Amino acid sequence: MEFPGISFNLSALKAASRPDPEKVYDLLILGGGPAALTAAIYAARKTITLALITKEFGGQVSETSEIENYIGFQTITGTELTNRFVEHVKGFDIPIAEKETIQKVEKDGGLFLVRLHGGAAFRGKTVVFATGKRHRNLNVPGEKELRGRGVAYCSICDAPFFRGKRVVVAGGGNSAVTAAIDLAKLATEITVVNFAAGWQADGILLDNLRRQGHVKMLDNSAVARIEGADRVSAVAIRNRTTGGETTIPADGIFIEIGLFANTEPVRDLAAVSPSGELIVDCACRTSVEGLFGAGDATTVPYNQIVISAGEGAKAALGAYDYLLKKGLI
Ligand SMILES: Cc1cc2nc3c(=O)[nH]c(=O)nc-3n(C[C@H](O)[C@H](O)[C@H](O)COP(=O)(O)OP(=O)(O)OC[C@H]3O[C@@H](n4cnc5c(N)ncnc54)[C@H](O)[C@@H]3O)c2cc1C
Repeated sequence: MEFPGISFNLSALKAASRPDPEKVYDLLILGGGPAALTAAIYAARKTITLALITKEFGGQVSETSEIENYIGFQTITGTELTNRFVEHVKGFDIPIAEKETIQKVEKDGGLFLVRLHGGAAFRGKTVVFATGKRHRNLNVPGEKELRGRGVAYCSICDAPFFRGKRVVVAGGGNSAVTAAIDLAKLATEITVVNFAAGWQADGILLDNLRRQGHVKMLDNSAVARIEGADRVSAVAIRNRTTGGETTIPADGIFIEIGLFANTEPVRDLAAVSPSGELIVDCACRTSVEGLFGAGDATTVPYNQIVISAGEGAKAALGAYDYLLKKGLI
């Protein structure tokens, strides 16, 4: 059966065209992770005019070595899942501006103006903002080199890979302590290392962690170095009072010291939470009419691929409904 206006053909992928700065698009999708790419597929199937703008495809998925919790795949690498997402999107005829950094999103006279570093700008009647999050790094030797080979940033995602192993958790807030509690069910030895003196996590979580028999908690201590040839084999920890350094054997380290939402481009336009996440309601609407948010960049809890993909679908459908109800298409 032929569906007018929908061109999805995996075997005939062609290079995407570049968005036209002279044109006013029904929808501009900002980002290239699961939220934005899913939004693009949903919007394309509504046959509205759209363009996608991103630094790169895959987002955090492309930083993930192995994924075991995305429905439909028992296990898949981040690179392969990214390739499948991109292949799916490129099956539609969507203009894409890749390797572009969005600097600012403005609204002027009912239209959104998306300004890029370098001066170019694109215009849209609606926007789906899905620029995700970035992890705070420890910035210590070994972190970058052993990323995905024992250095992990997401316990929901990667804790099951550390069954029967020795693990360090860096951080002292709720994320770090929750990660340590998750890991305590699987790992044989856990050392939680907090840079600050004391612990920032909620008391109830700390009580739970302290009940675990095989967890050591070191505050006022810094991860000095992550060691290992092919994989993490040890973590060097410096006591910030004495300056003394101890190296403990470890198979992995979870760095749970916070995430930044990549919402700088909309912070002057829309309401964001104290931690910088774009505030959305359950239909992905923001404080600005016509601006929709999706995925990790927003206040929606639990940063996971399947959740971002679902939010991307909702945001695109929300934008479409808005265009219809406002008589803009
Ligand atoms: C190491 C690691 C392992 C993980 N493992 C899993 C797992 O096993 N299972 C799971 O479900 N989840 C996992 N996650 C979480 C999951 O990857 C994220 O929740 C998901 O990718 C969020 O999707 P998103 O589209 O909202 O944002 P992101 O994936 O962060 O994508 C954001 C996109 O926006 C683009 N962008 C950002 N700022 C700009 C800008 N200014 N201009 C232009 N483009 C911009 C980026 O280039 C990127 O393409 C993991 C995350 C990490 C870091």
